[in-house]
Amino acid sequence: MIDYRTNDWLNADEVGDVLHAAVRDDGKIRQVLQKARELKGLDMADVATLCHTTTPEQVEELFVTARSVKEQIYGHRIVLFAPLYISNVCGNECTYCAFRASNKSLPRTALDKAGIQRDTAELIRQGHKRLLLVAGEGYSAANGGFQYILDAIASVYEVTDTTGNIRRLNVNLAPLEVEEFRLLKDAGIGTYQLFQETYHRDTYAAVHLSGKKRDYDWRASALDRAMQAGVDDVGMGVLFGLHDWRFEILSLMQHIRHLEDTFGCGCHTISVPRIEPADHSELSMAPPAQVSDTDFKKIIAILRLAVPYTGLILSTRESADIRRECYALGVSQISAGSRTNPGGYSEGESAHEHAAGQFQLGDHRSLEEVIQELASMGFIPSFCTACYRLGRTGQDFMDLAKPGLIKLKCDPNAVTTFQEYLIDFASHAVRCAGEKAIDCELDGMGVKARRTSERMLTKIRSGKRDVFC
Ligand code: SAM
Ligand code: SF4
Repeated sequence: MIDYRTNDWLNADEVGDVLHAAVRDDGKIRQVLQKARELKGLDMADVATLCHTTTPEQVEELFVTARSVKEQIYGHRIVLFAPLYISNVCGNECTYCAFRASNKSLPRTALDKAGIQRDTAELIRQGHKRLLLVAGEGYSAANGGFQYILDAIASVYEVTDTTGNIRRLNVNLAPLEVEEFRLLKDAGIGTYQLFQETYHRDTYAAVHLSGKKRDYDWRASALDRAMQAGVDDVGMGVLFGLHDWRFEILSLMQHIRHLEDTFGCGCHTISVPRIEPADHSELSMAPPAQVSDTDFKKIIAILRLAVPYTGLILSTRESADIRRECYALGVSQISAGSRTNPGGYSEGESAHEHAAGQFQLGDHRSLEEVIQELASMGFIPSFCTACYRLGRTGQDFMDLAKPGLIKLKCDPNAVTTFQEYLIDFASHAVRCAGEKAIDCELDGMGVKARRTSERMLTKIRSGKRDVFC
C-alpha cells in the first residue's frame, strides 16, 4: 500500500526555481500563447512565463488567447449550480472562516433530514438540477459521524417535486479515509471537491490553528485517497489571498501532474475562491496576499490555457461585475442564488439576513436574474448532468474531451436543459430572451450537433423531461 501521506510530489523548491527561471520577454510570452492555442495544455515553465505577464499589452494578449480557447472548447455554455450548506458545526480553527470553532456568536445548525429536504425542495422549485453539498468538519461528534453525510446525500436525492429533482450532487467535505470515500461513491456523488487552501506549508500552519485540518499532509493526500476509492471526478482549489498566487497555481499544476502520473487523470474541476469578509475573522478583512481584480482575471485565463479541458468554477463570492468579465475568460461553471447558512433557502430572506453565513457574498442575484443576464450576453445556461449519469467520468470524460468530441454531447445537452428550465421555471420575459439565445445557438452549430439538438428539443417542447445524450 502506497503511503500517500509522504506527498513527495509537492516540491516548493521546484516551484521557486521554475518561477525564477521563467523568461519574461514579449517573444517568450507570445510563444507560450501560441502553444496554448493548440489546446494541449501547458507545462509548469509555460505557466510561470504567463505569471509574469505585466504590461497592459501582454495581459490583453493573454486574455484574447484565453477567450478564444474558452470559446473553442466550451462554446457559449455555462453550467449552473447552487451550494447546499447542511451544517456549520466545525471543530477546526481556520482563521479566515466564520464557521471556525472559536466563533461563539455564530448560531450553529446541523440540518436534520426535514431541513435538508426543505432547502433541496426550494432549490428544485427555483430550477436547479445540480447542487454542491457543503459542511463544516463537525459532523463526526455532533451528528452520528460520517453516516450523517451519507444520510444527507440520500435525503437530497429522495426529494422529488412536480417540477423535478436533483440529478447530480457534488460535495465539498473535509478529507476522508479511503473506505469513507468508497461509501461516498456508492451514495452517488458527482464530484468530490477539496480545496488545499494554500500549498505553502508555513502559511498553511499559520492560518489553521487547531483541529484536524491542521494536518497539511492529510489534506494534500485526500484526492489520492478519493481516486484510490474510485471517485474519479475530483475538484481542486486554492483559497486566493493567503499566499502568493503564482506559487499557488504552480503548486496546483504539480498536484494535477501527480494525479495524472498516478491515476492517469488529473482533476475534473478547479475552483478559484478569493477570501471574502467573514464574521469573527480579522484575516478575512485584510488577506495577507490579497489578489487584485486584474490578477484574479489573469489566474482564470492562465488556468484556462494550462488545463483547457478542466472545468473552472466561479462562485457568488465574486461580484456580478467581476463574474461578467470572467465568463468569457475561462469559467465553465458558476453558482447562482447562493446562501451559505444551513436552512438559508427555505427560511426566507429575513432569517438569512440575521443568521451569519460562512462569508459575505458578492453576487446576491437570484438564479433567474443570473440566467437572464447570461442569455442576454449570448451564453447558454446549462443544467446538464449527462456525463455523470452515463458514467462518462474521470479518464473516460477526458478521452472524449481532448479530441473535441464532447462538444457533440455538451452543446445539445445545454440547449435542451436550458429549454426545460425556460418552460418549467422562467417568467415570460426570460423565456423569450432564452429562446432567442437558443435559436442563435442552433444557427451557429454544426450539422450533426444541430440535428441532435433539434430532435431533443422537440421532445422537451412536447412535454418530455430529462432528455440527454
Ligand atoms: N469545511 C470543509 C473544508 O474546510 O474543507 C468543507 C467546506 S468549507 C465550508 C468550503 C470552503 O470555503 C473552504 O475550503 C474555503 O476555501 C472556503 N472559505 C472559507 N472561508 C472563506 C472566506 N472567508 N472567503 C471565501 N472562501 C472561504
Ligand atoms: Fe471549518 Fe471548513 Fe470553515 Fe475551516 S473552512 S472553519 S474546516 S468550515
